[in-house]
Amino acid sequence: MLPPKRKRIKPISPDELLWRQEEGIPDSETEIDVPSADKIELAIENEFRIMNNNNNRYLIKDGPPTKMLKAFYKYVDEINMAFNKYSPCKRGCSKCCRIPVDVSDLEINIIKHFLDKNKVKYIQRKPQKIYAGDSDKLIGKEYTGIACIFLKDNECSIYPVRPFKCRSLITFEDTNDKCDGEDSIKLIYLSSYVIERTYEAIIKLYLKKKGVETDFLQPYQIFSELRENFKRIG
Ligand code: SF4
Ligand code: SF4
Repeated sequence: MLPPKRKRIKPISPDELLWRQEEGIPDSETEIDVPSADKIELAIENEFRIMNNNNNRYLIKDGPPTKMLKAFYKYVDEINMAFNKYSPCKRGCSKCCRIPVDVSDLEINIIKHFLDKNKVKYIQRKPQKIYAGDSDKLIGKEYTGIACIFLKDNECSIYPVRPFKCRSLITFEDTNDKCDGEDSIKLIYLSSYVIERTYEAIIKLYLKKKGVETDFLQPYQIFSELRENFKRIG
């Protein structure tokens, strides 16, 4: 079912409006969906109220990083469900599976385990890591427009173990028309400071257990690109 059509207005600040006019950005692109944004903000507030009132609901217990990440995934999926009613995103909609996906070593291992368990053959590649000084060299930028190798018949074939980045990607446009190519800039990684830091903490815990010094690692240093890890799956 299509999401309800939403009213659009232009609540742009005078400064931003001036900047957009100078840049020649057409009026239609300055529209922001305020009624929807208000609802989303309320939904976020409500979610955090629930979290505060019931700490146990989202408590991620200390334990093996794999277990912690799976508990965290559950939490992220629950949070994101609150926003689905404002978005055309749904399972089987896959234009966004044609942009690069940052993935951590821990998530790669979880995917490998899933593929092994389901007897899916794959060729593993040596991922290209980004190190200090290379932050301008975007991970996997050459994959823009190329479908993720895990996309089968427009569905994610590793859906239960898809990475955090795939779980948090969303759009609040009316349709998926602008979810790929140059328009993919309209996609949003739905997250919060707490969610990002929790994710990074679990990933770093895993690396620490592997003997990696993580204290000074920047977020971009803990990722590679999903398709740089798996060449082909059978
Ligand atoms: S981001 Fe776009 S392509 Fe991806 S699920 Fe949502 S609507 Fe579909
Ligand atoms: S892992 Fe799944 S959800 Fe993520 S980009 Fe690939 S096919 Fe899409």
